[in-house]
Formats: sequence, C-alpha cells, structure tokens
Amino acid sequence: MGNLIDGKALAQEIQAEVAQQVQRMTETGIRPGLAVVLVGNNPASHMYVRSKVKTCETLGMRSEKVELPAETTTGEILPVVERFNRNADIHGILVQVPLPSQVNAREVLDSILPEKDVDGFHPVNVGRLVAGTATLKPCTPAGIIEILKRTGTQLRGRRAVVIGRSDIVGKPVALMLMHEDVTVTICHSKTPDLPSVAREADILIVAMGRPAFVSDDFVKPGAVVIDVGTNRVDSLERIHEIYGNDPQRLADYQKKGYTVVGDVNPGKVLPKCSLLTPVPGGVGPLTIAMLMANTVKAAELQRAAGQVRGRLGDIK
Ligand code: NAP
Repeated sequence: MGNLIDGKALAQEIQAEVAQQVQRMTETGIRPGLAVVLVGNNPASHMYVRSKVKTCETLGMRSEKVELPAETTTGEILPVVERFNRNADIHGILVQVPLPSQVNAREVLDSILPEKDVDGFHPVNVGRLVAGTATLKPCTPAGIIEILKRTGTQLRGRRAVVIGRSDIVGKPVALMLMHEDVTVTICHSKTPDLPSVAREADILIVAMGRPAFVSDDFVKPGAVVIDVGTNRVDSLERIHEIYGNDPQRLADYQKKGYTVVGDVNPGKVLPKCSLLTPVPGGVGPLTIAMLMANTVKAAELQRAAGQVRGRLGDIK
C-alpha cells in the first residue's frame, strides 16, 4: 500500500524558504513584486488569482492585480502588460490563462519581458528550458520536480512516463526530468496500448484532464505516481463509482455541486504504487509556491542585471 504525498506541507516548506529570501531582499531595498492580470469571469481563474495574491501578502511580497472585463481585446491588454514591463517595482508578471477566445493569448504572453515571465511561457524561456539553462521554469512542472526531490525519489537513471504533451505541463516536465538524467517517454491520445507503456515507469506523471482515467493496470508495483489532473465532476453516480461512499467527497458534492477529481483513480492506484499525489492537496499547492519562488528569482535576476548596467555606466 502506497502513501499519499502531502503537497500542502511541501508547499509550506518552500514558502517558508521564499519568505526568508523575501525578507533578505527587502532589507537590501528590493521588495519582490508580482503583477497579475485577470481577464473575464472564469470562477476557477478568480479563485487561483485570489490565492496567488493572498500568498504574496503572506510572504511579504508586493502584489498588484488588474481585473479586466470579459470583452477586453488583445489591443487593450498589451498596454497593461507594457506598463508592468516598465515598472521597476514589479519583478514578475502573470496573465492568468485561459484568456477569452477573442484574445490572442500567444501575442499577450509573448509581450511579457522574458525576465519578468514568472510562468515561464515566453519563447525565450521555453528555449532556455530546452537548452537546460532556464531560471524561470513553468510552475506546475517545477513543482512536480520539487515533489520528487523533497520526497527523496531517486531520479538519475530511472524511467519516467509522462501522459500528456501540453505546453504547460507534459512537455516541460518531460524536459526537466530529462535534465535530471531520467529516461523519459511522452504519451498522448494517439499512443497505442497506453497501460503497457505506463507500466514501464518508475515515475508516472499524469496530465491528461480525464477524471480517474488511470487505474491499477497503468502502474508498475512500487512506482511513484504524480497526478496533475484537476477535473470538476458533478455526477453523483460517477463520484460514487470513483470514491464509493467516502463521506468527505459526498459532503464536498453536497456543498458545491461538484468535487475535484484527478486523472488517477486513487482507490485503485494507491494499493499498487509507493507514493501518490492526492487531488486536491498534491500538485496544486506546489504550483503557487513555485510562482512565488520564481518571482523572487526574477527580482534577483533584475537586481543583478541592474548592477551590471550600473557598472557598465561607470566604465563609460
Ligand atoms: P491539455 O492541454 O488538455 O492536454 C491534455 C493531454 O492529455 C494532451 O496531450 C492529450 O493528448 C492527452 N490525452 C487526453 N486524453 C488522452 C487519452 N485518452 N490517452 C492519452 N492521452 C490523452 O491539458 P493540460 O493543460 O496539460 O492539463 C492536464 C490536466 O492537468 C488538467 O486536468 C488540468 O486542469 C490540470 N492542471 C493542473 C495544474 C495544477 O496546478 N494542479 C496545472 C495545470 C494543469 P493529445 O495531445 O494527443 O490531444
């Protein structure tokens, strides 16, 4: 029988380290600052942004939030990003995705200065990630690597299977694992006989967006399983199928009309694996912790760049 990984505790550990870095930087006159741009009324996005802003405050960081109506155009978002690009008190800029369909998300994300791109989605940072020289790495994949390292999971020489090839989770986490000397296989919807490929994994990362899809036939005995999925399930019948009569899940459904389910079926997988991230309370909390860590890194990078520019100014 495997153990559940306490993502909240790991996130708190990282946040305590970040709070110390924030304090040290603030004492030297630079208080790390994050700007968040939120467009539209997506309830999940509002919840994520609230929790990001609150975490900034808890850690002693500066934060600024701009909320724009759902009908905002690309041309109206770009000047907001540009204002933060030029603001020396803002070190990290995050535009919450998904953006409404009329917005050119690529154009907006590419307009963030690479050194302020705390989500790690700018092509310059993606290129650095491929090359293994990135400092600002995408938060969810970086959080997954922290989970593996902080649970003492051996990486070098082991085999990982990543199910999902999205730009925000699957591809970057596969690259990060490769840079940790892991042998990585990436799977997707066209991969034949997915369970048998997944069973080769010492470390199985699942980022599909398919509730409780991964069952025990996907898991090698003793594997470490990281469940990235966050899916709202509002069918009571399906909730019973996955969780039986689990009182917590039923109470959750009664309260909200849905419960959040991962891509892994925990009842089936936990008895076979060694470690499993629960949903909620696994990968999610790490994502925010890594965003805070990235903002402090961004502030350090910008301070170092400012010092270099200052020295070059002296030489002139
Ligand atoms: P995405 O962009 O929708 O990509 C899903 C991937 O899964 C695709 O590559 C798709 O393959 C693959 N896939 C879907 N069905 C499959 C199947 N039946 N067999 C094999 N592969 C299949 O998803 P994402 O943005 O990476 O997100 C994945 C999940 O993680 C979602 O539930 C999302 O909400 C969650 N998430 C959580 C966090 C967090 O902080 N906890 C952060 C980000 C995302 P194709 O490419 O062939 O279509």
